[in-house]
Amino acid sequence: MIDDLTGGAVGDDVSNDGLEKEPSLVCSDVVKAFGGLRAVSGCSLTVRKGEIVGLIGPNGAGKSTLVDILSGRVHADSGSIVFEGRDVTRWTPYRRAAAGMIRTFQLNSEFPGLTVMENIMIASQGHPGEKLGPVIFQRKKWRDHERQEFSRGRMLLSEFGLSEMENEYAGNLSGGQKRLLEIARSVMAEPRLLLLDEPTVGVSPLLRPRLLEHVRDLADHGVACLLVEHALEVVEELCDRVIVMAAGRVLVEGSFDEVIADEGVRDAYLS
Ligand code: ADP
Ligand code: MG
Repeated sequence: MIDDLTGGAVGDDVSNDGLEKEPSLVCSDVVKAFGGLRAVSGCSLTVRKGEIVGLIGPNGAGKSTLVDILSGRVHADSGSIVFEGRDVTRWTPYRRAAAGMIRTFQLNSEFPGLTVMENIMIASQGHPGEKLGPVIFQRKKWRDHERQEFSRGRMLLSEFGLSEMENEYAGNLSGGQKRLLEIARSVMAEPRLLLLDEPTVGVSPLLRPRLLEHVRDLADHGVACLLVEHALEVVEELCDRVIVMAAGRVLVEGSFDEVIADEGVRDAYLS
């Protein structure tokens, strides 16, 4: 089922047999200052295909800024970002998204005046209607693609429990439903790397497992996931590896148990 949802874009080149997985994202020595404040101060990390990496750390550690830099919304002052072997440091957010680097925002970013289904369809990639040629000369192909994508969108909405809201304005959804819509949208965009900034904030305990299940499903199909999350129980349950950031740099990385046992990590959270 998920193969249909991801458009079959990933998964072919990922082994699930315990061998070391290929890197998806390699970020090296990234620095970003806002005026005198170094929000990210020489940060390096790797996310492998099929892996869910939790990025945790106290408020102000630089996590959201790092996600902004990885997605291209903010340009780093120095350092490099390599995605699937290509240096994307200077790429625009749009170009990165088209290559499969998809992010969700810490705050809701839906289009409130569009319906839930319209929000989903906007995320559909590789739309042949975006080029004038196919629209004029290959109308059938264009319509077929649209129909296919529409049914994929429907399937996704049903997976996320949003079917009944299909024609509702996205602005009328509850906070939790908006988060689910945002994740559904990012799945629709056929991610190869998913950057999730606090996806569970505002999601009801009832819907939370569904959201997390989807992230796990995507990872099982080869999608690399970087998850910024403050709820440690979510990190413990979902993440294969945890990176702790403090004061703009990586403090420790390892398994959940390893990083939680680290004294420096406790100090960082308490200070
Ligand atoms: P986190 O997501 O880990 O809580 P942020 O990346 O949001 O941390 O913030 C890191 C630091 O950078 C904070 O001190 C924050 O106030 C500062 N900061 C973030 N964005 C900006 C900005 N656009 N202008 C100035 N300072 C910023
Ligand atoms: Mg943040």
